[in-house]
Amino acid sequence: MRAGLAESNSSKSFALAATEIIRSCVHCGMCNASCPTYQLTGDELEGPRGRIYLIKGILETGETSDVAQTHLDQCLVCRSCEASCPSGVKYGELLELTKPHIESSNPSPLGLRIKRYLIVQIVPSKVLFSIFFAVGRILKPLLSSNLKTLIPERVSLRVLSRVHHKRKALLLSTCAQSVVRPSIDTAAIRIFDRLGITLIPVAGAGCCGALALHCGYEDKAIVQAKANIDAWWPYIELGAESIIATSSGCGLQLKGYERLLKEFPDYSAKSKHLAGLIRDPIELIDDQKLSAVIKDSDRCSVVFQSPCSLQHGLKINGRVEAVLERLGWNLTKVKDPHLCCGSAGSYSILYPETSAALREEKLNALCQGSPELIVTANIGCQLHLAAKSAVPVIHWLELIERELN
Ligand code: SF4
Ligand code: SF4
Repeated sequence: MRAGLAESNSSKSFALAATEIIRSCVHCGMCNASCPTYQLTGDELEGPRGRIYLIKGILETGETSDVAQTHLDQCLVCRSCEASCPSGVKYGELLELTKPHIESSNPSPLGLRIKRYLIVQIVPSKVLFSIFFAVGRILKPLLSSNLKTLIPERVSLRVLSRVHHKRKALLLSTCAQSVVRPSIDTAAIRIFDRLGITLIPVAGAGCCGALALHCGYEDKAIVQAKANIDAWWPYIELGAESIIATSSGCGLQLKGYERLLKEFPDYSAKSKHLAGLIRDPIELIDDQKLSAVIKDSDRCSVVFQSPCSLQHGLKINGRVEAVLERLGWNLTKVKDPHLCCGSAGSYSILYPETSAALREEKLNALCQGSPELIVTANIGCQLHLAAKSAVPVIHWLELIERELN
């Protein structure tokens, strides 16, 4: 795709990098078939090719419009289009590069900006989010059915192991997840303990910054990324072998620190080193060892919902399914497993109608084989699906932990 730059953009590094990405697009449109918003609407501007054209127009003219802003806002950033693009267009990176500049020149509607502001203030703060949920649980009987679905039930925790192994890895204590579903990190700690790895949740490390970045608060995401590196660095120097995020969306964000911090000399080398240490828990699972410490009993039938951040972002599709099958679970099939469930970070709050339509389709696809459980790898997908699912939805780590001897 030919792409030039407006005079006002010609020396800006983000615009030069974005133009390079746009040039790699051959406008074949193959990506539209895998785009959830295009599939729902049939509108070219609700698909990746149309959105790339919109960004191209903005860079070339130096001007944006409400129409362009709306179609770009309504993208889930699920990256399904990247997986089906024969030219390897880095659509997610293109959006990440250009969105903050588009937002600053033509802000989104006030209502949307207020919602984003509240999300970015409340969710990453464990204190504020805990208060929000405590109040929500008290008021739950009075809420509308839509709002009720946003407040999950409390889950109990099991006692953790206190053994300290030679092998150590750092555990990102995911902000929202640690409040609404702490049992996922507990499960990770217990499973890795059996595999001879101590997981360390580090005080001072907190939100990965994904929500802030997706809501257009790049500065806040940078502050959060730097705080995490500062908290983890002494442990890395002492030999921690990896950093684990039990929510795949957070793991993907951690992998992106190198790009986010490249303009900061004090952090660019550290974030590059860190990128080599980030692991999804499935990458550290030794299922031969694990099979020796789990019960030898009949397993239920499960279906795996592969989050976009896991399959399109981290590109480790199929690994969880393979491990679960080797450990004895019967996995039922899913139609169109590449399509987003509609959770997509803050998307389910900002665009509830589109999000609900995508959830309905995803639940139908997941339940076609009548599984007894839906299993996933990302807290956002888990809560979003559980809110309307007749079948219980849990994290794959919780599934395995239930079977530990
Ligand atoms: S599939 Fe790739 S090359 Fe083709 S239109 Fe989509 S982004 Fe462009
Ligand atoms: S990121 Fe997802 S929603 Fe956005 S254009 Fe690509 S496939 Fe469509």
